[in-house]
Parts: sequence; C-alpha cells; structure tokens
Amino acid sequence: MRYISTRDNFRPVSPAEAILLGMVPEGGLFVPESIPRLDGAGLGGASYHETARRVLASFLTDFTAVELEACIHRAYNAETFDTPGVVALHSLDGGRHLLELWHGPTAAFKDVALQLMPHLTAVAKAKTGDRSHTLILVATSGDTGKAALEGFKNVPGISIVVFYPHGGVSEVQMRQMATTDGENTQVIAARGNFDDCQTGVKALFGDPELRGLMAGRGIVFSSANSINWGRLCPQVVYYIQAYYGLVREGFLRDGGEVDLCVPTGNFGNILAGWYAKAMGLPVRRLICASNRNKILTDFFQTGVYDTNREFHKTSSPSMDILISSNLERFLFEMTSHDAVRVSGWFDGLKRSGRFEVDAGTLRTMSALIVPGWAGEPRVFRAIGETFRRTGYILDTHTAVAVAVSEDLGAVGDGVPVIIASTASAFKFSSDVLAAITGQRIDDEFRSIERLGRLTGWPVHRAVLGLREKPVRHDKVIDISGMRESVLEFAAKIKDRE
Ligand SMILES: *Cc1c(COP(=O)(O)O)cnc(C)c1O
Repeated sequence: MRYISTRDNFRPVSPAEAILLGMVPEGGLFVPESIPRLDGAGLGGASYHETARRVLASFLTDFTAVELEACIHRAYNAETFDTPGVVALHSLDGGRHLLELWHGPTAAFKDVALQLMPHLTAVAKAKTGDRSHTLILVATSGDTGKAALEGFKNVPGISIVVFYPHGGVSEVQMRQMATTDGENTQVIAARGNFDDCQTGVKALFGDPELRGLMAGRGIVFSSANSINWGRLCPQVVYYIQAYYGLVREGFLRDGGEVDLCVPTGNFGNILAGWYAKAMGLPVRRLICASNRNKILTDFFQTGVYDTNREFHKTSSPSMDILISSNLERFLFEMTSHDAVRVSGWFDGLKRSGRFEVDAGTLRTMSALIVPGWAGEPRVFRAIGETFRRTGYILDTHTAVAVAVSEDLGAVGDGVPVIIASTASAFKFSSDVLAAITGQRIDDEFRSIERLGRLTGWPVHRAVLGLREKPVRHDKVIDISGMRESVLEFAAKIKDRE
C-alpha cells in the first residue's frame, strides 16, 4: 500500500516512509491510497494483540508479520498497561459504553499509539536503511507530550523535543513532562497557545534551510503528533476491539450498528473511528464532541471553518484547539481525494484563518458526523451526576463526550454508543473533585489524594509520586524562539554520540 499527500505535492511513499517523514515536507498529510477491508472473521474472540496484528498488517503492508508481532508485544504488556486487554469497556448505562483508553503509563489515550510508535519507527528506519538520527518534534496540548516522551525516551538513534503552551496545560500535565528523565529528551514551554506551538512545529518541518542544516549533521525531523500516520493507525484498533467486546458481552449482535462518540481536539481520535467505519466496521455515525472551543461544531453545522474567534482555556485543555490538523485528512476523503480543493481550503486557512466548503461536501459530512459541544457548567454537571448515579469518575474530557451524547439524545434510540474515555480522572483531579463535591482544593496533589479517598478508586500510577520527582526541564521561550531551541538541542545530539 502506498501513502499519498492530501495536497498532491509529494510522490507516493511506502508505509515506513510515511511514518519516518511524519508529514509531507511541503505541507499536507499522508493518507493511505485506498482503505483495506476489515476481515471480521474470528475477531469476536480475538485478543487485543490479535486485532492489532490484523489491522496494522492491512495498513503497514511493508512490515512483516514477525516485525509487527514484535512491535505489538513490546508495546502492549503487563509493564506498560495495567489491564490485560490494553483497553477496557465500562457500561455507563444500558446504551452507553465507555471505552477506557487510559490504562497506559501516562493515563491518557495517547499511550495506546505512542507506546507502539517508537518500535514502528525503529523498524521503519532499519527497513529503509535510514542511518540518520531522528529528531521528533512535538507540539502538545498536554497529553501527547508526556506520552511521546515516555515512548521515545532512551530509544537509540532518536531524540525528542516537546513544545507545550506556557501556562496552557494542567499542573499534573506540566509536571509529568518537566520531570521526564532520559538522555534524549527536551521539554520547552513556549509563550503562546497550542495552535501557536503546532503552527510553529509545522513551520520547522517546512523550513528548507533548517532541514538542510539538520541534514548536514545527519539529523532528520519526524513527528509524534497525530499528523503522523504511525499515530493514527494504532488507534483504529481499539474501536474494532471495542465493537467485538460489546458483541461478546451481549450488548450488540454481530453486524449490528454502533455510534462512536469522541471528545475531539485535533480530530485524530475521531478520524481513527472513521477509518474503522471505512474498513467496514458497522458504525452508524460519529458524534464529534467539543468543549467551549466549538469550532468543529460550527464547521459541521455551517461548512465554515473560522479560526478568527476567541480562544478559551477550559478544564479540558487537551481539547483547547482551534486548528484541528486531521480535518485535512477527513476532507480529502470526503471529496474523494480532491487534492486541488483541499489545498485551496488549507491555503485559505493559512492566509485568512478561514475557509468554507461547498454544499456537496457539507452534505457528505453531515451524513456521517453529528456535532455537539458542552460548556463548562454542563461538563461539571456530567461529572457530578455520573458519580452520584453510578460511582464512576469521569475525567473532564470524557465528560464533554458524555454530556454531548446525552444532550443529542443519542441515548435510548436502541443503537449502542461507544464513548471514548480519553484520560483518567486523576489527571485532572481538582476539577473532577470540584465537580463532585462543589468545593475546589487548589493544590492539585492534595486533590489527587482526596479524590482517591472520596471515591475509593486507586490513584492512577501516572500521577503517584509526581510531586516528589525532580523537575529537569524548566526552559521557557517565545514562539519565535522555537527554531533556535531546536538548533541548540541538535548541536547537543552531535556531542552525545
Ligand atoms: C488529545 C486528547 C483529546 C483530543 O484528541 P484528538 O485526537 O486531538 O481529537 C481528548 N482528550 C484527551 C484526554 C486528550 O489527551
């Protein structure tokens, strides 16, 4: 299988190359040229490993079965995930099922892909005969950063620099990143929001002079954001696994339809759900749940994507995003691979911060996507009510999706809803505690303890002992200083080797 650019500005590449390049250097994202059909036979009783092996083999066609098997076993085991199935299902009520994706080392769904991706990257390098040093550049709204650091730290031949918005992530997210050890890591706070960081990273990728300087030192950039196909592909697996899990538990007959409801920021996780549907999984519709930064809700309702609006900091910081990168892949699919139209829209976005799709594209999208959003009071109410009713604690991101699924009346029409639960509540303890008790403890670490005692839930290992860990990264820069920071870090790579 070949991977092509959403802007038709690059030669088709192999899966290994798509993973190593991260994104198309000239702008644009790699997508599979065609979408493989899901062979559901036997998936009803399949382990997570088995489902992963099948799905990954169908997309990463230049990886051998032995290579994939090894990557999957290194990524998903008792040391990395605290549940044997890697992900887990929890039925909220008869019709709604939480798909817990936060059993990995950093307590966010990003672990599922980022525990695997370093292994895929290493194999891809060997496969393509790539002897350069890979420098992973990451922009994070909080969770990707730590998950990527954990995945890539101390991996030979690879280094990683993470940029996060200064003051724009939670205390726990910040400390998780800043306390990372590993010889090959750097974490930098940039004065701006996530979109500034992401745009900055994309600009570094697209900077031919910088790429030349790096090449001179034997360094090649890559990405661990969901702009990299290697991030997206492993996420397709868990929707398929969840579907057959519901069949197994008797909530669904094999072949019956489900809805997926995903708390969305960069549009990566929900896009993975769309790929599962496109492969043939019986998904009726995708509920795209946004927080107060509801640019996607507006877009799917009107066809106008307009970033010229106020940016809100919310209790779900990993969704505080106005430029949802993976929308580009989705639009490419919705227009049957019309790179000219897609390029036009994204040029417009770059020029004026907005674009508008044609009525036909809007209609195609509307048949698939149901958009909705929830503001802060609604999110807090969802957390409080869910806890009182069931004793289950939702994190602030998952709560957005739970609220939206309720408000859209997705419950009760007979089609089960799989809600992606994207983080452990312990990662956002003071907000979750405030939602449950009505009282806020501003100390995040006391909130964690209190939440554990109050609910009887074991504290997620990702946040245990975090207060005592030494801070190793405290660099703060302006957005304009990102390029310089990368040059400085790159110089140290040379010294290290
Ligand atoms: C990253 C993240 C999201 C958003 O996922 P996208 O793939 O960016 O849409 C939602 N919730 C949590 C907890 C996250 O870390």
